[in-house]
Amino acid sequence: MVARDVGTSHPQPLRCDHCGRAVRETQHTRTTYTVDYYSLHTGPVETCSLMVDDGERRVTFQKLLSAVEVITCVDCYGKADVQRDRELRFRVELTGEERTADQ
Ligand SMILES: [Zn+2]
Repeated sequence: MVARDVGTSHPQPLRCDHCGRAVRETQHTRTTYTVDYYSLHTGPVETCSLMVDDGERRVTFQKLLSAVEVITCVDCYGKADVQRDRELRFRVELTGEERTADQ
C-alpha cells in the first residue's frame, strides 16, 4: 500500500504579498496566541446605483467584481507604506486624491 499525504494544510504555504516570506497560521497556546499574518479580502469594484421602490431615491453601492486576497505578514503590517497600500486596495476611490496630494 502506498502512503499518501491527505493534505490537511495548504498545498503551498501562504506568502506575504509585500515581502514574499512564507507565513503560518495563528498559533494558540493555553494562555495566548501568536498572529503571523493578516488577510484582506478585496478586489476591483464598480459603482452601482439603483432606484428605490418609491421611484424618488437612489441607492449607490460598490459591487465587488472579483475577489482578491491580500496577505500581509506581521513584519510588513507595521510599515506605513504597507498600511497605505492596504488602505488604497480597500478604498480605491482614495487613489485619485492620493495622486493629487503627491504633486
Ligand atoms: Zn511581509
